Amino acid sequence: MRDVDLFQMALGLETPWFVDRTEFDAEAKRLDLYLDFRKGGRFRCPACGKGGCPAHDTSEKTWRHLNFFQHEAYLHARVPRVACEACGVKLVEVPWARTGSGFTLLFEAMVLALVKSMPVAAVARLVGEQDTRLWRVVHHYVEVAREEVDYAAVHRIGVDETSLKRGYHYLTLFVDLDGTRVLFATEGREADTFRAFREDLEAHGGHADRIWEVCMDMSHAYRKGQREHLPHARITFDRFHVVKLLNEAVDQVRRAERKEAPELTRTRYLWLKNSSNLSQSQQRHLAQLLLGQSHLRTVKAYQMKLAFQDFWELPASEAGRFLDAWCRWARGSDLGPMARFAQTLEQHRQGILRWFQTRISNGLLEGLSSLVQAAKARARGYRSTRNLIAMIYLMHGKLPIFQPI
Ligand SMILES: [Zn+2]
Repeated sequence: MRDVDLFQMALGLETPWFVDRTEFDAEAKRLDLYLDFRKGGRFRCPACGKGGCPAHDTSEKTWRHLNFFQHEAYLHARVPRVACEACGVKLVEVPWARTGSGFTLLFEAMVLALVKSMPVAAVARLVGEQDTRLWRVVHHYVEVAREEVDYAAVHRIGVDETSLKRGYHYLTLFVDLDGTRVLFATEGREADTFRAFREDLEAHGGHADRIWEVCMDMSHAYRKGQREHLPHARITFDRFHVVKLLNEAVDQVRRAERKEAPELTRTRYLWLKNSSNLSQSQQRHLAQLLLGQSHLRTVKAYQMKLAFQDFWELPASEAGRFLDAWCRWARGSDLGPMARFAQTLEQHRQGILRWFQTRISNGLLEGLSSLVQAAKARARGYRSTRNLIAMIYLMHGKLPIFQPI
């Protein structure tokens, strides 16, 4: 068998295409395959699909292909344009690459497989290409796949923000709580992120009127966005967010008291973590503070926090009464941060108690932000938020699987 026949079979070339010749340069670690089409070959018009069109003229193109062992491989061909009666002069589609790409389909499939498990910049180094070229491949397939996704059956969503750059640049994620997939990601954390979500939802066959449940934090912007764009949804405030605010209140009490009670220095984690997550020596330290320093306001705030933990274990019928009693206790105390937290609870009472009906939280996805951190690691040196969002869709959008050929 001649080498050109071998490569022809390996590439799966069909008539009129054939391998004309090969050039192998061992020193440059490079294999070049020159393809051509048979004289009088007929092609399909890429616009209308009409077959049997003769070549009008040709232009030379090159594509990077999968490595041949350790050698970079390139395909070269003169690609014909057809003169279609209906559509005019059009560049034909070749079977090994999509129009406009400098890579073959198999090379692109390999890139997509690799970027799911390692940073794009590392893949770029591995294959010896510019990462910007690889990002273009990622964007193309994510966009094509997202055109296929169907949001018609989405009824319960989680909304959460995640910070991109140390707290001044945010991303808002909309997640399907039943399908555990990221539906939509966008920059910012304003009310308008809900408008963008609604438009994307409806572009994918979903209906804003049929989003019945939303789990989110208590931010003013999100509540405004929900009222305006998902008006039929009932809100469950994310319990992990509620606990986070409670912990912040306890820590504010501690920090204010630290000046007069030096024993509180470097005890932040003792009060924030569940005692079961503390080491033995940390547990002993906490017990000493609780027993010996019961006059401290921090101890009082901590006791309120412990009492609040029981809240989530209550039967639904008792939750409202407990919440009201707890808020009275906190507001009647002389602990400003705890009183303000209680006031927040009272203002959001309905959505907090809603949890006892829906049991939904954004912890269902093991913390949306850890999802993003993982995508961020894959997208390391991601250059733009647009790149990061594409990576989030690729990894967590449950997109239709890419079939190269
Ligand atoms: Zn045509």
